Amino acid sequence: MLLGSEPELPYERPHLSKGYLMGTVPRTRLGLRPPEMYRELGIELRLGERCVDLGLERREAVLESGTTVPWDRLCIATGSAARRLPELSDAMYLRELPDAESLRAHIGRGDELDVIGAGFIGCEVAAVAVQKGCHVRVHEALEQPLLRVLGPELGAYLAAVHRSHGVDLHLGVSALPAVDGPLLVAVGSEPRTELAERAGLAVDRGVEVGPAPGLRGRSHDGGQR
Ligand SMILES: Cc1cc2nc3c(=O)[nH]c(=O)nc-3n(C[C@H](O)[C@H](O)[C@H](O)COP(=O)(O)OP(=O)(O)OC[C@H]3O[C@@H](n4cnc5c(N)ncnc54)[C@H](O)[C@@H]3O)c2cc1C
Repeated sequence: MLLGSEPELPYERPHLSKGYLMGTVPRTRLGLRPPEMYRELGIELRLGERCVDLGLERREAVLESGTTVPWDRLCIATGSAARRLPELSDAMYLRELPDAESLRAHIGRGDELDVIGAGFIGCEVAAVAVQKGCHVRVHEALEQPLLRVLGPELGAYLAAVHRSHGVDLHLGVSALPAVDGPLLVAVGSEPRTELAERAGLAVDRGVEVGPAPGLRGRSHDGGQR
């Protein structure tokens, strides 16, 4: 059973800041696998349901609706969430399909768009938005876009490319900008560890992994090795 809180079939997030935002990749091509493949593989999908407790002791996960789901072996693959800036209450984030839909609607209107963060997602959205006729301002704390990943030479090159396409790039910015119109915050992601923490598992900027105590020494059919 594959249980997930998003109602959509599993999809490729990378398109959300690229082809899907641009309009070159339709929604029907976002899927990780065709729907029938889950049936063929014997995977029961339980979508649109958030798990609130792993139920380690009883081996019964608890869902938000109160329903319990018994499990034999459990894999936690809860990924990451966009890092939030709570002081910017009206800001948009880009992590899930509905986020991309509302961002696409803003961009399609050729609005002004402010982006905080010139990492991968901030740069990709800026590139799409400027091609869609938006006036785009990007505010980045470091001296170059993607500085930590690409280093200063490629960072400077990227800055020049963005500027040549009309992106208004503000680098080395130390204060949050005052913004009237749409604002996208793209300042990285944080691992979603709430479930593991609540279950008392070891968490250190992610769920610590290793041989699971319950499985050690057991073969796949449940017998002892
Ligand atoms: C806009 C964007 C562009 C990207 N572009 C690239 C790229 O070009 N190249 C690249 O390599 N990577 C890219 N990434 C990163 C890539 O998408 C991630 O590395 C990938 O999604 C990680 O997959 P995952 O399955 O570990 O976690 P996720 O994709 O985060 O999936 C975790 C799932 O668990 C669900 N979940 C969480 N908590 C619960 C709960 N309590 N109960 C039930 N379900 C829950 C979540 O809703 C989510 O559906 C991009 C990401 C984004 C957002």
